Amino acid sequence: MDATFFTAWLRRAAELIAADSERLTRLDAAIGDGDHGLNLNRGFSAAVAALPDDVGPGKVLVAAGRAIVSKTGGASGPLYGGALRAAGKSLGDAQEVDPPALGTALRAALDGIQGLGQAALGDKTMVDALAPAVDAYEEALRRHGDPAACAEAAAEAAAHGAVATVPLQARKGRASYLGTRSVGHEDPGAASTVLLMRALADVAADTSDAHGEG
Ligand code: ADP
Ligand code: MG
Repeated sequence: MDATFFTAWLRRAAELIAADSERLTRLDAAIGDGDHGLNLNRGFSAAVAALPDDVGPGKVLVAAGRAIVSKTGGASGPLYGGALRAAGKSLGDAQEVDPPALGTALRAALDGIQGLGQAALGDKTMVDALAPAVDAYEEALRRHGDPAACAEAAAEAAAHGAVATVPLQARKGRASYLGTRSVGHEDPGAASTVLLMRALADVAADTSDAHGEG
């Protein structure tokens, strides 16, 4: 996976976020302040506009993360932006990323989010989608899955994780102010993490088809 792969991931993520922006905002209106779709649309559009040419995958992610931190409002900006920067830093200057290195980068993204936001599993945040996604990616890797299989496993685990936030009471972020009234709604950040993992799986599947592996 080269820089083209990672720019394709970010473009696809921006597309999926734009397409689902109203749903994300609706989810956030129920247990937050109704800006999550708007925030991410702004942030990921800025990320796509800021994608550098002629640099390796790590620098692509760092540049996207920086744009997201500076252009996304709300809690999700520093969390997602910081996560992409951490992922990019873990990739270093390599021009080509293998599936284990991508797994390490995803793990670094999760660690970045938890380091900044201090959310544990079950706190009803994006961590509840991303943590199972990273676990599933690593599990697929141990079964010698190709990048497309690993990314698909991650996307499916994220989707399950997001649905599983519905009965939880929020313990972090704005939704936690609602106490028990946050129960019964899907967490918007978990829902947007599903889109990011779906974008990764889509691009990995396209890449594997193009190589005649799928
Ligand atoms: P804000 O809450 O500031 O309006 P957004 O609406 O853009 O920001 O994002 C809300 C999402 O951010 C939540 O649904 C949750 O998933 C995530 N979030 C908030 N606080 C934290 C945290 N401390 N750790 C992890 N994720 C968090
Ligand atoms: Mg909000």
